[in-house]
Amino acid sequence: MSLYKNYYLSHHIEDALQALADAPGTTRIIAGGTDLLLDLKQGRHLPVDTLVDVSQVEELSTLEVREGRIFIGASVPLNRIVSNDLVKTHLAALVEACELIGGPQVRNTATLGGNVAHALPAADGTIAMLALGAQAQIASLDGHRLVAMEDLFLGPGKSALDPKKDLLVGFFMPLQLAGQSSTFKRVMRPQGVALPILNMAAWLERQDGIIRKIRLSLGPAGPTPFRARKTESVLIGKEVNDTTISAAQQVLLDEAKFRTSPARATADYRKKLAIILLEDVLKAVWKQADRIRS
Ligand SMILES: Cc1cc2nc3c(=O)[nH]c(=O)nc-3n(C[C@H](O)[C@H](O)[C@H](O)COP(=O)(O)OP(=O)(O)OC[C@H]3O[C@@H](n4cnc5c(N)ncnc54)[C@H](O)[C@@H]3O)c2cc1C
Repeated sequence: MSLYKNYYLSHHIEDALQALADAPGTTRIIAGGTDLLLDLKQGRHLPVDTLVDVSQVEELSTLEVREGRIFIGASVPLNRIVSNDLVKTHLAALVEACELIGGPQVRNTATLGGNVAHALPAADGTIAMLALGAQAQIASLDGHRLVAMEDLFLGPGKSALDPKKDLLVGFFMPLQLAGQSSTFKRVMRPQGVALPILNMAAWLERQDGIIRKIRLSLGPAGPTPFRARKTESVLIGKEVNDTTISAAQQVLLDEAKFRTSPARATADYRKKLAIILLEDVLKAVWKQADRIRS
């Protein structure tokens, strides 16, 4: 049985948007297809009439410095992100996340836009970009808009994008300045193929021996990719030491909602991992930010 009836290969944002609007029945964007085709095949996704392929749209495959920030197109495959010097210099957390996704074949095809649009609470690329302060650029026939990553998600597997109207164009992330650093870590079952037991990313700015700014994200720790804002607030103005880490761990356990998932881990196990990962990421970014002074 065919997984879809029509396949439309678009070359420009406008013709992709027009195809989404005009195609009869249900329509979905497809990029690498590593999530969508599997979901269709295994019955986790309702049948689709038309797939609109955006993998060949030039604007969506751009990776460059734009308006003083890094722009990564939604259709840029993960292997390009991992090997790009600009990304390696400025967005360490994203490199560390993307190089753990799947194996080489998956990374050759899977895109950053697909990782985000699938809206899973523990998607590795998404969690890294949340800590990196990413903004998503979205196109519709009404024009373009910028949306903070945190506002893109409504629930597990449910993004704020209208599948009939909205196209993710790409993501803007700030360049890394002196005293800033980021990292990503995760715990995965050895035989696990898709999502981690728990992941965590941190970005911070260290100045005069204290944390000036920090963003911390993790998943799964709620119905959507989670930004740990209360934990961030107890860390601002402090240095990273055993006392501050311990205070932050308590707040994190309070604000994150860990759940038991039969195939991966219990909520209690995730709590234990959260304590360990938080100490690991904080110590790593703190040390690294001290090295990146100029
Ligand atoms: C073996 C295997 C291992 C994996 N391991 C991991 C892992 O360790 N960690 C992890 O996070 N993920 C993992 N994944 C999941 C997957 O590879 C990623 O989520 C991938 O980045 C999805 O990108 P894609 O281009 O393949 O998306 P697609 O499958 O093409 O699309 C996914 C969703 O995004 C939408 N979409 C795609 N592009 C756009 C766009 N430009 N605008 C709007 N909507 C869009 C589609 O309509 C669809 O709903 C794994 C998958 C496989 C098969």
